[in-house]
Amino acid sequence: MTLDKVKNIVILGAGESGCGAALLAATKGFRVFVSDAGEIKPEYLKELQENHIDFEQKQHSTEKILGSDLIIKSPGIPEKAEIMQQIRHKGIPVISEIEFASHFTHAKIIGITGSNGKTTTTSLIYHILQTAGLNAGLGGNIGKSFARLLLEKTYDYIVLELSSFQLDDIADFKCHIAVLLNITPDHLDRYHYDIGEYARSKYKIGLNQTENDFFIYNADDKISMDFIGELKKNQAVRLPVTMKFKPETGVYTEENQIIVKTGKQVKTSIDMNILSLVGTHNRYNSMAASAAAKALNIKDEDIREALAGFKNIEHRLEFVARVHGKEFINDSKATNVNSVWYALESMVHPVVWIAGGIDKGNNYAELLDLVKEKVKAIVCLGLDNSKIIDFFSPYVDLIFETDNMQEAVEISYKVADPGDVVLLSPACASFDLFKNYEDRGNQFKEAVRNL
Ligand code: ADP
Repeated sequence: MTLDKVKNIVILGAGESGCGAALLAATKGFRVFVSDAGEIKPEYLKELQENHIDFEQKQHSTEKILGSDLIIKSPGIPEKAEIMQQIRHKGIPVISEIEFASHFTHAKIIGITGSNGKTTTTSLIYHILQTAGLNAGLGGNIGKSFARLLLEKTYDYIVLELSSFQLDDIADFKCHIAVLLNITPDHLDRYHYDIGEYARSKYKIGLNQTENDFFIYNADDKISMDFIGELKKNQAVRLPVTMKFKPETGVYTEENQIIVKTGKQVKTSIDMNILSLVGTHNRYNSMAASAAAKALNIKDEDIREALAGFKNIEHRLEFVARVHGKEFINDSKATNVNSVWYALESMVHPVVWIAGGIDKGNNYAELLDLVKEKVKAIVCLGLDNSKIIDFFSPYVDLIFETDNMQEAVEISYKVADPGDVVLLSPACASFDLFKNYEDRGNQFKEAVRNL
């Protein structure tokens, strides 16, 4: 699509991506109006005012919105919102902030999407690029919006975490390197409860790729492979990541080595023992990141150094402390069963498991084998713990209940023996007792320090 004839832009939503888009659009000379149906956060309000950008909050002025040439829609706004239906009815072009920003940069884009592991893998790839001394930016669904990054500096490379919502309204956006980590049912409410629709939106990360680009995906992931046909028109070099076979090009494991082959002649091996991130899921993340790095021709020593030195980001299997031989791990970001599965799978000592919160329709049966094998006690931390208690009580003797983090940590400390692990990996959202998962993780760490 072309922006040549566009004069008036309306931006729906004034969060990080909406404000980023507004600032970029204003800088580029467009007439901008920002409209948010909710209350705008103070820091964004201030920014809009300081930059003299026209905006409204707690309402949508339909006439003004429908009079624009282009709509930039924030990822949080669903298609079924009334204003969106009116916009679609009138036929005004709608794009995402990602699409808009992509018109104003020549940086090579490394885009990462998936149901789980996006933030970890995005940060890891960025860390490799930095280790290699490349002029790279980091943003998207993590930290700063893509549009805001462009206002800061001219980058050669931009590493973007991309949610499926951000991919929904792209047109010409192209990743030089696209990474699709995995697809597990999540956010299905936005996709008519259709896993195919959700998967198609994830595969959009490969849109517009040419034969000079790379598409990295997990060949061991069932749902990704069910929809691999979505790549029909994709011209990129395909780099499957697998621990089950040896593809001609891609990433695989051989004894304790990770082998990366981005072309028939280009091969690197990385000793798995050097990886700083633990667990099978993180091995997949490290493999995908290595493929991206190799595709960018980054030197093997830089890739190895970065993989060995990467410090995991907060709240994801984060080591907190060892107190009298009892290890405390904060995995507060594990808000679904799939992430808890990987957390438990990576545990090598008996586990006191702190779980609970707002259940988004969890099927705990998927965890049963691992819980029977590794979990000696469950500490439920939620307002309504009945589902966890009912499901696990036939299998786990020690189950406790509390609605207070300090108490959850104290109980866990008492129940754990030296050598055991206390793992906060809730499988649930946090909003019943905490502001968000960060608040939950921080309270956990604080409580551990108070022991
Ligand atoms: P996202 O940004 O996609 O939500 P994060 O990197 O923040 O992903 O990790 C979210 C949770 O999922 C954490 O508990 C983490 O340990 C777990 N996780 C990380 N990578 C994977 C993966 N490849 N598969 C499954 N779970 C993962």
